[in-house]
Amino acid sequence: MATSQRDYYQVLGIPNTASADEIKKAYRRLARQFHPDMHSGAKKSEMEKKFKELNEAHEVLSDTDKRKKYDRYGAQWEQAEAYERARQAAGAQGGGQAHSFSGEGFSDIFENLFGGRGRSGSPRGFSAQGEDLETEAELSLREVLTGVTKRVNLMEPTPCLTCRGSGAVRNRPCQACLGTGSHVESKTIEVKIPAGVQDGTRVRVAGKGQPGVNGGKRGDLYLHVTIAPDKIFRRQGSDLQATLPVWPWEAALGAEVMAPTLTEPVRVKIPAGSRAESKLRLKGKGLPTAAGGHGDLFLILQIVMPSSLTDDERALFAQLGRLRTGDPRADLLAAAQRG
Ligand SMILES: [Zn+2]
Repeated sequence: MATSQRDYYQVLGIPNTASADEIKKAYRRLARQFHPDMHSGAKKSEMEKKFKELNEAHEVLSDTDKRKKYDRYGAQWEQAEAYERARQAAGAQGGGQAHSFSGEGFSDIFENLFGGRGRSGSPRGFSAQGEDLETEAELSLREVLTGVTKRVNLMEPTPCLTCRGSGAVRNRPCQACLGTGSHVESKTIEVKIPAGVQDGTRVRVAGKGQPGVNGGKRGDLYLHVTIAPDKIFRRQGSDLQATLPVWPWEAALGAEVMAPTLTEPVRVKIPAGSRAESKLRLKGKGLPTAAGGHGDLFLILQIVMPSSLTDDERALFAQLGRLRTGDPRADLLAAAQRG
């Protein structure tokens, strides 16, 4: 019973018009390439799977009768055949019921059930879409803000020109492609990623996947976008957060200071009497939102002490200490006492 969902012709890398000889050659070439004994480690189990798939494809396509059924019904040809037998049995019994199973109606059932090449379609017209490719791109927050065009490297198999994809020249393995019939080429394409993309988004780039078979259209490229962590800005949806250090006297008296944003620094007002951990909101300085606006940037105030004090500064702090009565830990101590 077929387990593979892939097209057998695609597995063998041949058009569905291939001759028995071409099938044999393609099978031998790929069998050498995929043979699990030729690989080790993680590659081995991948090759075991490919090898199994290859043998399955070869078993069906090298048998004229099975191939004919496969061309007609696709991967589910065995089930289709069972249906056919059931239909014939029903027909042999006669009776009105058999009529509902005859003629074109039955073919339609196949097309619906197996979604494949029904008997009305020409097997030679069969073509398959190329496989989708998947790759990753990491964006900085600034790139999320503005949108970016990323250059993406793809590895793409292209037919060998020396042997025209057959893998052999005058019955010997092609030297240019080592008998594989294709070269893997690195290709760079540019993908435009719009501003405001979310972490974990899959961007679909239509028609940039692998080439199709027999004129089938190309697969798509999926770009998995992740947003790199930033040293300054923490992301919360479309809002950003950053820590803003201020001197104790700036917090006490209020000040105008420069604060970083994703673009250029801006002047912000620290209100007099600001407490540590308090938040300043810079409206619209966050990331683009899905609705077309922008999130906000929140600055979290961090009150910092100079790493060393001059004599004058020490004298001023001492004066402050004498002026201020009361204990900042009073509430804490009372609460702890109550339990
Ligand atoms: Zn070649």
